[in-house]
Amino acid sequence: MRVEFISHSCFAVDYDNALIVFDYSKDSDDNRLARMIAAKGDKPLYFIVSHFHEDHFNPQIAEVPGARLLVSYDTAKRRHIHRDIATAILHPGEDYQDDALSLHAYRSTDVGISSLVTLPDGTTIYHAGDNNNWYFPEDEQDHIHCSLSEMEGLFISTVCEISKEHPSIDHVMFPLDMRLGSQAARGAFQWLRYVKTCHFYPMHCWERWDEVSELIENLRPLFPEVDFIDFNPRFSTSQKSL
Ligand SMILES: [Zn+2]
Repeated sequence: MRVEFISHSCFAVDYDNALIVFDYSKDSDDNRLARMIAAKGDKPLYFIVSHFHEDHFNPQIAEVPGARLLVSYDTAKRRHIHRDIATAILHPGEDYQDDALSLHAYRSTDVGISSLVTLPDGTTIYHAGDNNNWYFPEDEQDHIHCSLSEMEGLFISTVCEISKEHPSIDHVMFPLDMRLGSQAARGAFQWLRYVKTCHFYPMHCWERWDEVSELIENLRPLFPEVDFIDFNPRFSTSQKSL
């Protein structure tokens, strides 16, 4: 299997049974996603959409022939992905399953869902969407509609719910958002304390790669068993092959 970072919170996972694309908003500058889709052969193509925000959704997904759209309830409503176009419309707590994957939708501290995908060989992938501890600094708290302690409690409750069912997850795509300043890794740190994570992929980075690399370097010694993938274009490729 191969995990490719595309942009912002978008990843493509290529494996024997399918090509899965999480939260497509735009392709990379070198059109990695378009090339992966062109090369996938007969395998099914899935677009999983965590929520309707424009940095997680692109209406073009509804026009890709044969694509299977697994979208959150708010995406269906706000972006007019009707039942006859969507393969599944998901609320937190709901499941989708076919031959190529199964998906359980979990809650998010923002809108929509986060997704736990299980592949036929048992590999597990968690894509957070906007599920994070949005611990914004004081001058930016208009981004959230509750107090910081309510935010933190809500986030921890989402993580506990997931860790109860999945104490260990193979691939985790999770926000490291530098807009949170000194607290940018707070949610990731809490996640990693609750859920044994094999491979950790930062997302929602707004291309602030050097700051994100620094955060990752701080996390590495605290969680030596975790494989942190750093997509900083200065010194790595966008690809992780397993
Ligand atoms: Zn977002």
